[in-house]
Amino acid sequence: MSDVEVRYGAPAPRTPGNDRGWSLDEVRRAIYTLYRRLSPDTVHEFSASIPAEDVTVRRDEDLISGTQRVAHALVEHLRLPDTRITVTFTPMPPGRAGRVLLGTGPQYSVEIDSTFVGRRRDIGAVLAHEVTHVFLEYHHMRYEDEILTDTTAAYLGVGWPLLDSHRTAAYYTERLGYLGSPAFGYALGRRAVAFSEDPLPWLTSTDARSAYRSGYAVAYQEWTQAPLASADPASRRRYDKDLAQVRRRLDRGAARPHAAAKSDRYAFSGRSPLRVTFNCPICSVRISLPVASRAEICCQMCGTLLDCDT
Ligand SMILES: [Zn+2]
Ligand SMILES: [Zn+2]
Repeated sequence: MSDVEVRYGAPAPRTPGNDRGWSLDEVRRAIYTLYRRLSPDTVHEFSASIPAEDVTVRRDEDLISGTQRVAHALVEHLRLPDTRITVTFTPMPPGRAGRVLLGTGPQYSVEIDSTFVGRRRDIGAVLAHEVTHVFLEYHHMRYEDEILTDTTAAYLGVGWPLLDSHRTAAYYTERLGYLGSPAFGYALGRRAVAFSEDPLPWLTSTDARSAYRSGYAVAYQEWTQAPLASADPASRRRYDKDLAQVRRRLDRGAARPHAAAKSDRYAFSGRSPLRVTFNCPICSVRISLPVASRAEICCQMCGTLLDCDT
């Protein structure tokens, strides 16, 4: 451990110009909210995802009892004590897959659109989303926030069926949940990095597999980029170049580091000392350190040890 001054802050808000559900910053903020509100120990209780057989209504089983079985499995996975879910199928407005009546716990009523009677493979995905709303309510979090709901589902191991419902074919597009495929893939990628778990064996949809692979690549890159000491050589070279540029500008009398030296990975600020700010690759909290220091820090939010070479 070192004695450099470490500062922490909330991650950046949604990137301007991105529609809701399509910005990775929304996912980062939602993951940060999870660690902040639940504690790292609670988050780590969810290191294993729900198995496919628990979240799939089989063709050979009774629709209602199979759906109740899946709802119960989700309640168990999310560790919701005494919670009981009653599911009914009913016609819903176009674009709506399901809903849960909140504020009624511990007995909740979930409605699923009746078209899912003929679409059993996605019933688990609809339930995963609705039961996660219940989870957020139980933990006194923003339970009506759909982005937080989908990210929580993905991060705590019940959300992979939602991404698996993302399919495109010549004449149709199917997608459950409020996160776009890239953001959903990224949320699952962040989970994979944090828990060393590979969801690919459970993903059957081509779109879902490709979104997950891309999302994992971004999440893994965040885990191996400067100013972390484990940065790959290309990331380290870019960082050194950005820092040199900032220093040249400050030497020439600039009041503050130039905006061009900012990147979505890190940003420089201040003068003496010059500091660099970046997201914790696990919990997304913004971490600020003086430059030109080597420090092993224990992230205040998630407890991850981060070897930093700024
Ligand atoms: Zn919802
Ligand atoms: Zn952290």
